[in-house]
Parts: sequence; C-alpha cells; structure tokens
Amino acid sequence: MNSSILRTRCSFLTTTVAVLLGFAGPAAIAQNAPVSVGPADPELILDLIAANRTLASYGIVDAYGHVSVRHNLDPNRFLMAGARAPALVTEADIIEYTLDGVPIDLNGRSQYSERFIHAEIYKIRPDVSSVVHNHSPSVIPFGISSVPIKPVYHMSSFIGEGLPIYDIRDESGMTDMLVNNAEKGSALATQLGDRTAVLMRGHGVAVTGESIPFAVARSIYLEINASIQLQAIGLGGSVSYLDPEEARRVLESGENRGYDRPWELWRRDALAQ
Ligand SMILES: [Zn+2]
Repeated sequence: MNSSILRTRCSFLTTTVAVLLGFAGPAAIAQNAPVSVGPADPELILDLIAANRTLASYGIVDAYGHVSVRHNLDPNRFLMAGARAPALVTEADIIEYTLDGVPIDLNGRSQYSERFIHAEIYKIRPDVSSVVHNHSPSVIPFGISSVPIKPVYHMSSFIGEGLPIYDIRDESGMTDMLVNNAEKGSALATQLGDRTAVLMRGHGVAVTGESIPFAVARSIYLEINASIQLQAIGLGGSVSYLDPEEARRVLESGENRGYDRPWELWRRDALAQ
C-alpha cells in the first residue's frame, strides 16, 4: 500500500470515528458540554458548607466522605464540593454536576471519585434532595454482620424496619470497593430502593434526605443508633427495638419536627468556624 492511500484511509477513519462520536471539532465539543443552570441560592451554598463542617465535627466524615444537594434552579443538577476534607470546604470548592456526574466547570479542582453515589440516587429518587456518603465507624459492623441494624430509639425512626445492604461484589465482582462509576452507583441506588439509607458492605453508608438538615441529621443519628445498638447487644440478654408501628408514627408526626432545632444549632456553629 503506498503512503498516499494509507493517508487517505487514515483520514477517512478519523473522520468516521469523529462523526460516530458526534464530535466534529473543538466547536462541537464546546456546544455539547453542559452549561450551568445559573448560580445557586447563596443560602443553599451556606447550608452545604455547614453540612460539610457539621458532619466533620460529629466524626461522621473525616478527610473522606461527602455531602451533596440538588440545585435549587434545576432538579437535574446537584452541588457538591471538589475532593477535599469536608471540614475545610468553602464556597470556592462547590461544583455543579449533571445527574451523570459530569462537572459543569471544574476550573482546576479535583473531584470525589464516588460522586456517582449521589448522581444515581438523584436519578431514581425525585423525593431526595440531599445525599451523604460516609464511613461512620459504628455503622460499619451492620454492613458486614448478619445482625441487622434496627431503630433503638425515637431519634432513629427513619431506619424503619431496617436498611438494605449494598454488596459491591454482587454486581461488580472484585473491585477496589469504590462506587466510582455510573454502573456501580446505579446498582447502589437500586439497592437503596425507597428506604432512607443503604449500608455498603465493608465500606460505609449512603444516607438520603428531602433536604440537607434531614440528610445530615439522619447521618448523625444513624451513627448514634448503631453505637447504642452495639452497646445494648454487648450487654447480653434481649434488646427491645422500636416497633415498626412506633417508627411509622414518629415519621408521620414529622420526623423530629424536621430537625429544625438541631439544624439551627449546627449551622450556626459550623458557619462560625
Ligand atoms: Zn466511600
């Protein structure tokens, strides 16, 4: 084959691949890139910063773990910090994402590889407006044991009759344990179903809420519940859990009054840092 035919064939292939991918050049790439739906409500940004710092101060996240919220201008977008220890998050760290986990304007910031936990939950749960992913220590045993987590007191009624467990091996086989793509995020979201949280075997938990205060409070009270349950089991004897009917009644009464009281305190303390 002479070199001019080879060049022609290479050119044809390059053009074909470009057309198949939908890219005709840099201009088309710019056209296809998602654009911002606009600046989020400044109070929502402050809530998100307060959520990051509160979760850190309660030991629910350390340098790892993250919290997100749906964008107030578009339910198909969410906001989350770039990859940084939550205690250090400021307004400059907040990134807008599509529900495919695509950042709008990364601007040199690095990303949480497990943002797909958030994206895929938002896709299938329109009632959820905030998601927390954490590795809070007392919850981990219930993701690796046959003993189920159950509500031990009124503050954890959102556990209901128990929480599902996502085992990454079921869909993905041997992995590095991270939910770092849409397929794994989707499998996790499916396992969550209509519950408030899903335990992640050998990893942590994903907690949902209809707002930031719900997702943060549930993360904190889930850790406390797990700690109390471990202590009660350790005492020996039998353990009395909330009856499912009792848990249901707490939820129907407004689930601890929407956590307004703790959220006022947590937000004030977090933003004073
Ligand atoms: Zn994780």
